[in-house]
Amino acid sequence: MQIWNRNRQVVYRSDAPRGARLTDAGGPSDELIAALSGTTESEVLSADHPPTSERDVRKLLRRHGDLMEVYVPIKNHGHTVGAFEVYLQNAATEAAIAQDTNRLYLVVLLGLSVLYAVVFRIVAAASRRLRDHAAELRRHAERSEHESLHDPLTGLPNRMLLRDRAHQAIVRGRRTGEETALLLIDLDSFKEINDTLGHHSGDVLLREVGIRLTRVLRESDTVARLGGDEFGILLPDVGGEEGAVTVARAVHRALQHPFPVQGLMLDVEGSIGIALLPAHAESFDELMQRADIAMYAAKGRRTGYEVYVPDATDGDRSRLKLASELRDAVARGEVVLHYQPKCEMRSGRVTGAEALMRWYHPTHGAIAPDRFIPLAERSGLIRSLTMFAIESAIAECRRWIDDGVDLAVSVNLSTRDLIDVQLPDDIARLLGERNVPANRLELEITESVIMADPLRARGVVSRLRDMGVNVAIDDFGSGYSSLGYLKRLPVNELKIDKSFVLGMTDDEGDGVIVQSTIDLAHNLGLRVVAEGVETEEVWERLRSMGCDIAQGYLISRAMAGSEFRRWLDSSGRSGSAAA
Ligand code: C2E
Ligand code: CA
Ligand code: CA
Repeated sequence: MQIWNRNRQVVYRSDAPRGARLTDAGGPSDELIAALSGTTESEVLSADHPPTSERDVRKLLRRHGDLMEVYVPIKNHGHTVGAFEVYLQNAATEAAIAQDTNRLYLVVLLGLSVLYAVVFRIVAAASRRLRDHAAELRRHAERSEHESLHDPLTGLPNRMLLRDRAHQAIVRGRRTGEETALLLIDLDSFKEINDTLGHHSGDVLLREVGIRLTRVLRESDTVARLGGDEFGILLPDVGGEEGAVTVARAVHRALQHPFPVQGLMLDVEGSIGIALLPAHAESFDELMQRADIAMYAAKGRRTGYEVYVPDATDGDRSRLKLASELRDAVARGEVVLHYQPKCEMRSGRVTGAEALMRWYHPTHGAIAPDRFIPLAERSGLIRSLTMFAIESAIAECRRWIDDGVDLAVSVNLSTRDLIDVQLPDDIARLLGERNVPANRLELEITESVIMADPLRARGVVSRLRDMGVNVAIDDFGSGYSSLGYLKRLPVNELKIDKSFVLGMTDDEGDGVIVQSTIDLAHNLGLRVVAEGVETEEVWERLRSMGCDIAQGYLISRAMAGSEFRRWLDSSGRSGSAAA
């Protein structure tokens, strides 16, 4: 060890003999200068590069190996007054440093491991949550897609999915020429079961029907619930009409076995309409419509199933054009109602009017309802036409009430209208909106309308009667109907078909039919209306036969609303005036 003063003179050397002159051979080193100016400095000396000037250091190096030369400033009251120089064995220092460094490494390593563990857990948890969330989103999307394409009650595909599959079949068919069939199934007594046993039983039944239908079909077929008790089956690559009929038979048989519901064994038969692609239709809507017509035929004929038979006139271009024009005719105001008076025979008083539809075509002129009503029935427009007729008739009736005219208005219903279980509710709403009492409205339904689906017709008629709406059987005698059934139908009025009334003058047989119909109706407690009364002679005979009401050209033809009102005022037969 050596101690230096500020003037860079050695004042002490540990290995110098007492009293020796302390001198330094070389000039001051950089380290010494730094130490004298206040900072601690050090340098490692090794045997390869010893300081040339210091003999003693060589000796030390030889004895101890590498040395660390350290210059430490000596301070007095903050001022550096000198420096001392120490030689330390570098191996020990290195060992100490190495030990410290190792400890530091260990601490850093440990710290990093802990950090890694913590960060890893956080990241893992976050990514797990993200993954769960993504899976939940995916499940949700799948669920809502499934919900939008399936019927919640039965789990079967809905109309949208059926439409989609039909489109695929149409596109495929164009390429491959394969035929696809649509079976439209309507349960015959569902409404009655639903009404008498309650919705729950109805639901159980529908589910069971869905299961049975699925069982008799191939994997590639689609069974869909279209709403209410209506099911649709799409049969791709069906192998023509024969193949479709084979499936229809199997489906019909499957529905013939009684269904166990609430401990009861219920008979639920179905009527099946069959239509084929591309033989009967080009689009899904057309296919549905054709199958609907066939289903109606199956109901009417009670055959269980029917294949659509193209109408000979369907291909007629002008007819198709007319049907498409009818679609917009109501909106364009071309369709109006005319009113034909119904006259009480005893008093000569007008008690009501039948609303008869007229279509004033911009180029063809007036088109008779006998021509365009069947067109509407075949093209699916009849429901909107019927609603238009009912709404207009109720509005007219409101005007009569406002003017103090006491008349009922009759509206004709078509076959398709009566299986629409929504109809009574729609009528109730329309009556409510105009504040017209239900007994001011009468609905005329023909035998064929009733016989198409007697059970359902009875359900709808009963609801209308419960509401207070009057119901008449139109064209009585013209079709086939079971008298036993009519007896149980809650109607108020029977209208003798005009062919018998018109024939009365020439054909005695017609006279006998008219007389017996009047008697039958009275025995059932019904009011009788004779339509087609054209002459005084017929009027007189009908009166003597006991007929209640007459309608015909003798009294008046059907007139536009305003004309009818003028006629009523001038004829003096007004409900209130001629009483
Ligand atoms: P309908 O219900 O039997 O109506 C009576 C038809 O006989 C009416 O023909 C009427 O003008 C006609 N008529 C009335 N008095 C006489 C008469 O003294 N002699 C003769 N020869 N005929 C008479 P229109 O108005 O051409 O209606 C024909 C059929 O069209 C109606 O027969 C009815 O089935 C149907 N129709 C008319 N309007 C509607 C409607 O709004 N909806 C529905 N679904 N069908 C309607
Ligand atoms: Ca009628
Ligand atoms: Ca009639």
